[in-house]
Amino acid sequence: MKTIGVIGAGQMGAGIAQVSAAAGYRVLLSDVSRERAEAGKAGIAKGLDRLVAKEKITAEARDATLAGIEPVDDVTAMAPCELVIEAATEREEIKRKIFGAVGAVMGADAILASNTSSIPITRLAQAAPDPARFMGVHFFNPVPVMGLIELIRGLATADATVAAVEAFGRSLGKEIVHANDAPGFIVNRVLLPFINEACFALGEGVATIRDIDTAVKLGLNHPMGPLTLADFIGLDTCLEICRVLFEGTGDPKFRPAPLLVKYVEAGWYGRKTGRGFYDYSGAEPVPTR
Ligand code: NAD
Repeated sequence: MKTIGVIGAGQMGAGIAQVSAAAGYRVLLSDVSRERAEAGKAGIAKGLDRLVAKEKITAEARDATLAGIEPVDDVTAMAPCELVIEAATEREEIKRKIFGAVGAVMGADAILASNTSSIPITRLAQAAPDPARFMGVHFFNPVPVMGLIELIRGLATADATVAAVEAFGRSLGKEIVHANDAPGFIVNRVLLPFINEACFALGEGVATIRDIDTAVKLGLNHPMGPLTLADFIGLDTCLEICRVLFEGTGDPKFRPAPLLVKYVEAGWYGRKTGRGFYDYSGAEPVPTR
């Protein structure tokens, strides 16, 4: 597999393009316009410049990675790709439209994979050119740093498709885990109830934001507390995944904590809006309760 396509040049698509080019693949990168794809590549260049400045990579490695990434006008350029990874906005109708457009130009053996965090793979496969050559490939943010890929097969995914995408993922130096097409796959299935429980604890007055985060961080030896992590992920995203788990399983243990719903209704989404469980307007984050 030499040429791959990445659709969506946002935080995930850019990261996938970067690690793929760094591993020696030629990467065709598209977004809603050529300009957005170029902007995605410019963001990658900035990140690589920082790594060169910190002497984490050489200037030659940066140049080779950038040379491997070709922004394109749209998905019709992806005819030569053996694997196309869709990492566009998490909206089913957007992904379905993309699959129709790219499916019209993809080769008869080419594989289409989606980086979706929450949409069922078997359902998405219905919009793919061939459900046997379609699967989920779930990278983690930030892609160059995080060492894991979850592979998700739909009901119709062929063994050869899984084997090819697994080989691709390993060639990026990532660890591979296999999940069935169940809501949240593995990581979000385990993580979101944990974050949600921290929100219940806060809402019930068990402890303050700072004490919940300090307790989990030091008591469980986690790099950060669950409420800090929720602010990083985005409280709107956390709520959305909770709802996917709740609706997808029908199990009340996944019901979203009322306080999480309230914060999202207030528009307090976390770091990206300047306020979530912490207020980020000053030099240091300050707990909001
Ligand atoms: P993002 O908003 O940073 O990027 C999405 C990109 O898709 C944008 O650049 C947007 O212009 C582009 N886009 C929208 N419509 C398009 C179209 N029709 N054709 C081509 N490009 C289009 O979002 P993101 O965080 O990179 O998420 C992308 C995907 O990755 C989603 O499916 C998300 O669920 C999944 N994901 C996100 C994370 C995360 O932590 N952010 C982790 C794993 C998976």
